[in-house]
Amino acid sequence: LDPQPERLSNAEREIEKVLRPQVFEDFTGQFKILENLRIFVQAAKLRGEALDHVLLHGPPGLGKTTLSNIIANEMGVNIKITSGPVLDKPGDLAGLLTNLEAGDVLFIDEIHRLSPLVEEYLYSAMEDFKIDIMLETGPNARSVQLSLNPFTLIGATTRSGLLTAPLRARFGINSRLEYYDAKLLTTIVLRSSAILRTPISDEAAYEIARRSRGTPRIANALLRRTRDFAQIKGTGTIDTGIAKFALNALNVDEHGLDEMDNKILVTIIDKFKGGPVGLKTIATAVGEDEGTIEEVYEPFLIQEGYLMRTSRGRECTEIAYRHLGRLKTGGGTL
Ligand code: ADP
Repeated sequence: LDPQPERLSNAEREIEKVLRPQVFEDFTGQFKILENLRIFVQAAKLRGEALDHVLLHGPPGLGKTTLSNIIANEMGVNIKITSGPVLDKPGDLAGLLTNLEAGDVLFIDEIHRLSPLVEEYLYSAMEDFKIDIMLETGPNARSVQLSLNPFTLIGATTRSGLLTAPLRARFGINSRLEYYDAKLLTTIVLRSSAILRTPISDEAAYEIARRSRGTPRIANALLRRTRDFAQIKGTGTIDTGIAKFALNALNVDEHGLDEMDNKILVTIIDKFKGGPVGLKTIATAVGEDEGTIEEVYEPFLIQEGYLMRTSRGRECTEIAYRHLGRLKTGGGTL
């Protein structure tokens, strides 16, 4: 149930592909972003130009890859997919860029993890559709400039804070994806169950949705696990009883917080008197990467009102104390 793509199994990746919406019409939520993208896509198509470069940021599992595929689809162009850590040297990037046809999309996931050298190489490609390549080595080595077909770079990142200013400035379209509310996620769960041919009641879909941390990837993963429970322990249909049973068995609590969310809150309250406590200290105490806490767990805990970010560190709120059944007593717990 980890929302981070690099921690998915191959089978999970395959199912994700099947459940992935292909056109704007099938993409639920993110209305403002979609409304704008539809217009930009339409206008670019009218002018017969490549779409402006697009930066998508936000926590994992909210639909950045999905949206990129949809954009390519709606533009009627190919999409080449790569990621920051994979592009080791400028040469790797040059190979990809020179193979793009006019208007194609190059999707770079985790764009904040590009090496500075590769990133710098990207600048002229994005700006003027030109790159320099080295011909031959040794004394005959010379660099020539190569023109590229106009293309659209779509960069996705969970860590927008780590993006350099010059890179950020080269994106004409910059969108931040938001967590989904339970109603939108219910629509997604119902759509996915129909694709998976799994009967489900509306209430059960809502039960899964409201416990999915605002994240479509988690909603789909919980749906699949719940379907297993329905097949083995029930009649194959997912009703509220089965959904509740499955979600409890999967350690997803009543409010949709997962084990790591709860671990973070418990740690802050029990070990650090509810905070304020620094991010680094929390990360060490719970055994998770600092960046992951900041970009994956914390935004949801803050949005739902469990956690506050103050100048002196992270602090648990009343809501967190109540959630964990602790009493708040002026900085300490009972
Ligand atoms: P990200 O790239 O942000 O990590 P993905 O685009 O890979 O997230 O989405 C993860 C899964 O969630 C995909 O299988 C996709 O089908 C589903 N999903 C994401 N956003 C939506 C949406 N708005 N509507 C329906 N399904 C979605």
